[in-house]
Amino acid sequence: MLKIIYHEDYLTDYFTSAAESPLRVKAIYRRLRDHFETVTPEAASPEDILRVHTSDHLEGVQSEGAEVYRTALLSSGGALCAARLAMEGMPAFAIIRPPGHHAKASSYSGFCFFNNMAVAVTSLLAAGSIRRVAIIDFDMHHGDGTEAIFRDHPAVDFIEVRARTRERYLGLLELKLRWLGGVDLIAVSAGFDLYVRDWGGLLETDDYHYLGYLIRQAAQNKAGCRCFALLEGGYFVNDLGKNALAFCLGLSGEPPSVLCGDDDDSGIWPEP
Ligand SMILES: [Zn+2]
Repeated sequence: MLKIIYHEDYLTDYFTSAAESPLRVKAIYRRLRDHFETVTPEAASPEDILRVHTSDHLEGVQSEGAEVYRTALLSSGGALCAARLAMEGMPAFAIIRPPGHHAKASSYSGFCFFNNMAVAVTSLLAAGSIRRVAIIDFDMHHGDGTEAIFRDHPAVDFIEVRARTRERYLGLLELKLRWLGGVDLIAVSAGFDLYVRDWGGLLETDDYHYLGYLIRQAAQNKAGCRCFALLEGGYFVNDLGKNALAFCLGLSGEPPSVLCGDDDDSGIWPEP
């Protein structure tokens, strides 16, 4: 069963853009807490951060203030916790903030301070727990930080999709997952700002369920069922909870309703 990762301190009202409000994680956690077991994370250590970021970067985040620094360490700690659970065979979704996918090794922007995904993946690579990983980023915005950190890294496949219609978006993602070779882990940067009522104006709530299910199938078929997801963007707070729930139901293996009546679980993975 999928676990969710959450800490009350993610509600810390540190200085940031009004769009990146603590209400986002609050809305998601409220919607998910009765469906999935909660795991409370610990903060990442500076050593965890320094596997990815420069010491100047770490000091820069410290200089933003104690509240930002503490919450950013806790956010990366949530990512480490999710990665650990995934390696134990439990899919996990970390309801964390600040987000991370715009943070590069030595610079930060877009509400992001530490690259939570890179901190989690690098910790597993450094420990020798994984040799190959696919990172899927379905946030509306380009995961430029994650891409820059892992550019030309032989162990990391970075997957993003750009499309003008939801049908094309889901179709392209399905194709990319089908083409994916065997990996030890699938890690997901889950942003919900492509939602039809959010900035991206593209995906419906059911699409997040389908997307979660596609990733779950890929994890089962290609990654020994090891997968985790981290919250990135998503700013239409009223529907964030239901979109995150739809995604998590898919990621936990519940087939979306469009596949109802289709007993063949491999339906979205036709034989080559
Ligand atoms: Zn975004």
